[in-house]
Amino acid sequence: MAGHLDNRIPAVERLVYRHFLSRISADKRDRRWRAATVFILLAFTFSIQLTAATAAHGVRKILIIYETGPSALAFRLIDPQLRATLDEESPYLVELYTESMETSLFPDEASQQQIRETYIRKYKDRKLDLIIAAGPSPIQFMVEAHETYFKNTPVVFSGATKEEAGNPQFGPSFTGVWLNRQPERTLDVALRLLPTTRHVVVVGGTGLYDRELEAAVKKSLTTYESQLEITYLTDLAMPALIERLKRLPSDTIVLYTALERDAAETYFPRATSLEMLTSVANAPIFVLFDTLIGHGAVGGYVSSFAGQGREAGKIASRILSGEKPQDIPAVVGTNGFIFDARQLRRWDISESKIPPESTILFRQPTDWEKYKYRIIALLGFLVAETALVFLLIWLIKRRTKAQQLLERQLALEEISHLNRVASMGHMAASLAHELAQPLAAILGNAQAAERLATRPSPDMLEIRAALADIREDDKRARAVLENMRALFKKQTIARHEVDLNEIATGVSRLVRKDALLRGVELRLILSDAVPKVLGDEIPLQQVILNLINNGMDAMRNIPQEGRVLTVTTCMGTDANCGIILVEDNGPGIAEKDKMKLFMPFFTTKSEGLGMGLSICRSILDSLGGRITFDNRPEGGSVFRVELPLAVARELFAYA
Ligand code: ADP
Repeated sequence: MAGHLDNRIPAVERLVYRHFLSRISADKRDRRWRAATVFILLAFTFSIQLTAATAAHGVRKILIIYETGPSALAFRLIDPQLRATLDEESPYLVELYTESMETSLFPDEASQQQIRETYIRKYKDRKLDLIIAAGPSPIQFMVEAHETYFKNTPVVFSGATKEEAGNPQFGPSFTGVWLNRQPERTLDVALRLLPTTRHVVVVGGTGLYDRELEAAVKKSLTTYESQLEITYLTDLAMPALIERLKRLPSDTIVLYTALERDAAETYFPRATSLEMLTSVANAPIFVLFDTLIGHGAVGGYVSSFAGQGREAGKIASRILSGEKPQDIPAVVGTNGFIFDARQLRRWDISESKIPPESTILFRQPTDWEKYKYRIIALLGFLVAETALVFLLIWLIKRRTKAQQLLERQLALEEISHLNRVASMGHMAASLAHELAQPLAAILGNAQAAERLATRPSPDMLEIRAALADIREDDKRARAVLENMRALFKKQTIARHEVDLNEIATGVSRLVRKDALLRGVELRLILSDAVPKVLGDEIPLQQVILNLINNGMDAMRNIPQEGRVLTVTTCMGTDANCGIILVEDNGPGIAEKDKMKLFMPFFTTKSEGLGMGLSICRSILDSLGGRITFDNRPEGGSVFRVELPLAVARELFAYA
């Protein structure tokens, strides 16, 4: 592993130095300590010098001569690769001398001769360990000067094709890497990317190298002349060339070879001339060297100057390691497909058509790639926020609905309570009657007991029997009052298992006397087959009470013998509900009233409120049942109350 001389004082030694320097200033008062410190420092400095001398012993001197200087693209690609490879692979520290023959800036023979002489003078006695000649002119220079001035110094060549170097005959000290130009492969890949191409325009210049390259390209493209129209624009001044490239026919591609000098003898660095053309041309421009990628060209199958630098560095390192140049055969540099992603997009060339082994440079991330995480986070946030909003709306709606239901339920309970109280008013006479009987019996039995008790030898058995009768009558009276109280009481509606027969019996008991007073015969037909249903006793009693009262009202104007009201319990036809039917012999429901019957405040009675049937429907709705009516064929109407079976509900619950 090599390093540079300026880095040869190791970091730890620098630290020791710094430490002692700081001690000197800190301990100014202690003279003895100061003297000792100075001594240690001097000894340490000496040791560093010794280390440096040892490192210098391992230094190797390398002269690199380039075709053109740092302003040239080839230099900029070869040089860093060459240095990096030497740095990595050379076993010694290297002292690099970098020179350039500047053939673009000083192309004339006299200048070149002067440059050669200068370098000979400068380096002939330098005892170089290796010379790297990068470019045609440095190679030729070495071929000419090696034997005389640099005998036995190994030379590694690179950066030129064999032809460019003049097909030299090398001595044993020479080895290296040849540049390999393959313009036909650039044309092949261009045709693959743009298959409708019919015209190829080859652009070049009038400089020495421009001409050489043009000739080489012309030779390689001869086989294409039969299938493509190939035009060479290599003898134009830059303005004229620009005008031509602005107006190329469709299905044209441009092959840029090299344009360093135009027909007007104006010099352009190659990258500059390429940029001037790519910025105006109406067709894509392909190139032959990696040095030109990034200056507006699409790309191509290119000779790699960076590769030349790497290869030359490797060969140089092998020689420094002790291999002889004659044992290292010269190699040919590897080329490859390189494209500029920005230009592919500009000319609408799909990356899928590019050979898979290609290198694509300047790939700019798409907006999606650039902002992917931000977009995902934003979308996630939006989705979460929207979900939250919907959740809130749903919760509010649910709450509102529950509130409305509750309010409706409370209103129903309130109104049905009022309805029950009103029914009680209707039944006041019948209730008075109901209570009168047990009270009269109690009175009778109490008087009898009194009489029996005043006898000289009272019959205790008879007195007891009279008291027992009093107790029974009292119970009966209390049962009537209990029933009334229950109906009067306000209460909530809650579903549970109820017996329809019990409800029918309970209500008929309540209205029995009232019916008697109205001359109505009350018939109760109870079915033993009716199973328990889901409901609530008090509201259901209220429903049946309303229906019985309506039925009795309806029969008010018919002869007494016809006034029959029937309450029937039965099972629904498909055994899915329990039913109570309330039938009368009245006039039935008039056709015009059928739609309005359950509407609140619909009544045909002078004393009616019109709330009874509306309350019945609300109660059944809240219990999950329903109420319907019909006119009977034999006259009168039938109201039908249906309630879901309790067992069916259980089955459903286990299903
Ligand atoms: P109300 O009894 O106060 O009139 P309802 O809501 O109980 O209120 O009844 C509304 C109307 O329906 C009654 O006024 C009556 O015209 C009609 N109706 C109810 N039951 C019967 C029935 N069994 N026969 C004929 N009409 C009836």
